[in-house]
Amino acid sequence: MSLNVQVNASLKPFNSFGVDVTASLFAQAHSDADVREALLYAADHNVPLLVIGGGSNLLLTGNVTALVLRMATRGIRLLEDSGERVVVEAEAGEVWHAFVLWTLEQGLSGLENLSLIPGTVGAAPMQNIGAYGVEIKDVFAGLTALDRQTGELRDFTLAECNFGYRDSLFKQQAGRWLILRVRFALSRAASLHLEYGPVRQRLSEQGIDRPTASDVSRAISSIRSEKLPDPAVLGNAGSFFKNPVVSATLAAELKLAHPGMIGYPQADGRVKLAAGWLIEAAGWKGFREADAGVHRLQSLVLVNYGSATGLQLLALAQRIQADIEQRFAVQLEMEPNLY
Ligand code: FAD
Ligand code: NAP
Repeated sequence: MSLNVQVNASLKPFNSFGVDVTASLFAQAHSDADVREALLYAADHNVPLLVIGGGSNLLLTGNVTALVLRMATRGIRLLEDSGERVVVEAEAGEVWHAFVLWTLEQGLSGLENLSLIPGTVGAAPMQNIGAYGVEIKDVFAGLTALDRQTGELRDFTLAECNFGYRDSLFKQQAGRWLILRVRFALSRAASLHLEYGPVRQRLSEQGIDRPTASDVSRAISSIRSEKLPDPAVLGNAGSFFKNPVVSATLAAELKLAHPGMIGYPQADGRVKLAAGWLIEAAGWKGFREADAGVHRLQSLVLVNYGSATGLQLLALAQRIQADIEQRFAVQLEMEPNLY
């Protein structure tokens, strides 16, 4: 028995919003055996089990009556190497950005656009993390998860994960699958995605016209560091709302009324609007009430200036949702997971 279970543990260091709540029970998993022990412990004590990684996509709205299990498993291995295509597997508790840097050091490309995303490898499939035109589904080679209902291990293929925009089977069936390790198909021949946002421009400002994957990673990291608040300094969970995808008709009506509005046509004919643009246009950028606010540079990011509660942040989010719906007839969906 190696699981160290603490009673009434503070979760403040374990959620990037820095919300000050406790877990009735808290433990860290360093192995599959710890995970199984935690499941038994929670069942024996008749409490739910809440699995977390880096806590960077959570909004904790009160003290958590559960065994909160933080994934701290470590390990990265090469599973297949056919010269150009290399399959790498990482344990759930590996820190995402450190893993991305490790792949780049091995000369492998595929994850560079996902640099500097906070959190863990095991949480990445939950919302099919994405940035700068790449999502993990683009390089996904499989994962192993524990079925919490049956205790069995199951391997998932890409098709079985039902990945969508910030979505997956694991999010749709929340609480069922505990992701233990994830596999990625990476490449020694870099096929870079530079067309998104200011990536190419940043590279050319740096005098780089034939970038490597590591150059792209560094450029994206520098852009992100300038635009996004560092959770270690200012509590936040990244984008608080998903970008809404609306009908072409509504997008055209809105564009007529708001010529500056940003919209990206989708393959299915609908249009993805930039939620940040809508929130800024509605005047919320920089808004602050007590310690809950909207970031002054990036209106898609809600921030905790110190002692905001999860409920205050949620109330602010709901006010923004209602206002955007009233002004633009667009429903904003929250991205972080609420507990
Ligand atoms: P947590 O917040 O700990 O958990 C998230 C959810 O996954 C919870 O429901 C939890 O129960 C579940 N979970 C965690 N681990 C497991 C597991 N092993 N098995 C089963 N369930 C699990 N996201 C993007 O997609 N793109 C971005 O560019 C991006 N930028 C961000 C920037 C900032 C500054 C911040 C704070 C967040 C950003 N995010 C972004 C959101 C966040 O980083 C990602 O969603 C990340 O994958 C969350 O990882 P985590 O380990 O912190 O998960
Ligand atoms: P940005 O570059 O200012 O762009 C604003 C929005 O427009 C983004 O949300 C993005 O949508 C969309 N967009 C921009 N260029 C696009 C293109 N060529 N094609 C389609 N859509 C385009 O965004 P940002 O806030 O600085 O973020 C940069 C990237 O990091 C984005 O991909 C964003 O999703 C990601 N990010 C995510 C989080 C999070 O917590 N989820 C936090 C920070 C950054 P998409 O969001 O759909 O890409």
